[in-house]
Amino acid sequence: MDTVITDKRPEDTAGYCVYCNRIVARDEAAGCARAGHAPDAVRGLLDLQSGGSLPTPLPRMNWAAALMPPVWGVAHGAWAGVLAFPLWLFLDSALQAAAHMPATVPTTGHIIVWSGASVLALGTIAFMYWFGFRGWGVAFRRRYDTGLGVLPYPQFLKQERRWAWLCVPLFIVVMALAIAWWLR
Ligand SMILES: [Zn+2]
Repeated sequence: MDTVITDKRPEDTAGYCVYCNRIVARDEAAGCARAGHAPDAVRGLLDLQSGGSLPTPLPRMNWAAALMPPVWGVAHGAWAGVLAFPLWLFLDSALQAAAHMPATVPTTGHIIVWSGASVLALGTIAFMYWFGFRGWGVAFRRRYDTGLGVLPYPQFLKQERRWAWLCVPLFIVVMALAIAWWLR
């Protein structure tokens, strides 16, 4: 918030609270009016609407971020998204290994390999879910952390939504290819 210069009273503004993971009103001390989080946690500067109501909330799930972390992440400076690649490859190998285990392997062996593959699958889904769950906040901060008037907020919502038009079809194509590869 250091770079934001404004003559507005904090309680007339809203921002994204990194702990609440949503747009919140500011209190008189510029902190989070929703749950009392410190001013540092509330990023970006939006006007409260007339009557003090909050701007349009950020959507809960950023599907572009959730389904295509590498593509969305690189474009949004969230480089951890690239980790989805090795996760997908490991998961694919683990599932292949589990599915193609010779029948001569004892049952315990099958259980261990399938358990490993399941844990990896759950971990991958959790990673993608987390990315989608925090995605709108990441995009908001990237756009508004640096200062005022970069882009009107409704424009930002519209622009960020467009990422779904790239990432959702891309995810479907990747899934289709993976399934075709499996069934070949
Ligand atoms: Zn908060």
